[in-house]
Amino acid sequence: MSLFGYRNPYDTEKTEKNFWDNMKKNFIYHYVWCKAYRLMISAQGWDAERIIKVSSVKDIPFMSTAYLKHHKMRSVPLDKPARKKVSETGGQKSAFDFEWNGLGMSLSMGKVHKLRSLRPCHYIILGYEPKIESQKGKKNRKKAVAEAAYGFSCFAPAKSRTYALKNVNGEYKLDLDDIKDKLTYFMRGRTPVRIIGAPFLAYLLLDMMKEKNVRYILPKNSMIAFGGGRKEYYTPSVDKKTLYRLAEEVLGISEDRCMEFFKAVEHPVLYCSCPKHHFHVPVYSRVIIRDVDTFEPVENGTPGLVNLVTPMVNSAPMLSIMTDDLGILHDGAECGCGIETPYLEILGRVGAEDIPTYAEEVEKLDRNMLGEV
Ligand SMILES: [Zn+2]
Repeated sequence: MSLFGYRNPYDTEKTEKNFWDNMKKNFIYHYVWCKAYRLMISAQGWDAERIIKVSSVKDIPFMSTAYLKHHKMRSVPLDKPARKKVSETGGQKSAFDFEWNGLGMSLSMGKVHKLRSLRPCHYIILGYEPKIESQKGKKNRKKAVAEAAYGFSCFAPAKSRTYALKNVNGEYKLDLDDIKDKLTYFMRGRTPVRIIGAPFLAYLLLDMMKEKNVRYILPKNSMIAFGGGRKEYYTPSVDKKTLYRLAEEVLGISEDRCMEFFKAVEHPVLYCSCPKHHFHVPVYSRVIIRDVDTFEPVENGTPGLVNLVTPMVNSAPMLSIMTDDLGILHDGAECGCGIETPYLEILGRVGAEDIPTYAEEVEKLDRNMLGEV
């Protein structure tokens, strides 16, 4: 059974060997096919013999997200056009595997978190409208965020999809009034509404509606999923409790119908929160918390840098990624929801200049609305 086709995404014990086999295969694959990666880890004393002997995910060399941002690393030869390249090297199969793995993962996660439904619903996506990307340098991030939100809107058939950030002649415009009008209309029907997307946009929407004294009760089974990319999800100063309270007050959505999710470009594993709003680590990945000075792994319950590990990606050596997040890994039993794998709590980020604050995000959107960005 493929790791990504496994039905229970939290049965880490049963899938331990499978995970490790995949990790090792992935490690060797990138060493062989990515010259930059090979050179980088060779400088750290890695050679084929040492790779074959490696016996723990903690020992696999990690790469920082900052390094990945500034260095293009592809695990295929670079001297041929991309399309030709993938088919000639077996990369096409890799791309196919990636899609297939992503599908298997989404299906299992959607089932366990009760997101899958045959009943159509209206989606409100608090994020970028997909397809048209125009701003240089921001393409990937926007695309990834849009894809994460869009992917989440595939768990139940869509009767409609409405986006908060609409692409108007190549510029993104925030249109919360349109969202409010749609909610007014949906409230009168019976079709459940699923609101998905960035927490700070959810806050803007709910706060604006509260200011206007709007109080709705959305149809039964409506829900909110706060999330997107890793960065979008962890935008500070939008307190989760405040969001839950506003969702209940303004839209009649109770806390148990609010959940969170995230998926990062550099670590495309889908994390969904449990009923107690914790991110348990699924079978597709491992989270290692490392000491900020020595980078040595620390015990559960001790804060440190978050290192995300997965064998999911073949196109680039993203098997062990060191983020600039500070976090704690808690023993699964501490949660009490029934899921036994450890859960990750993010405490913040290292390097404040990279952290988009809530105020900055709003300001950016304001500039966007004025067409200045
Ligand atoms: Zn839990």
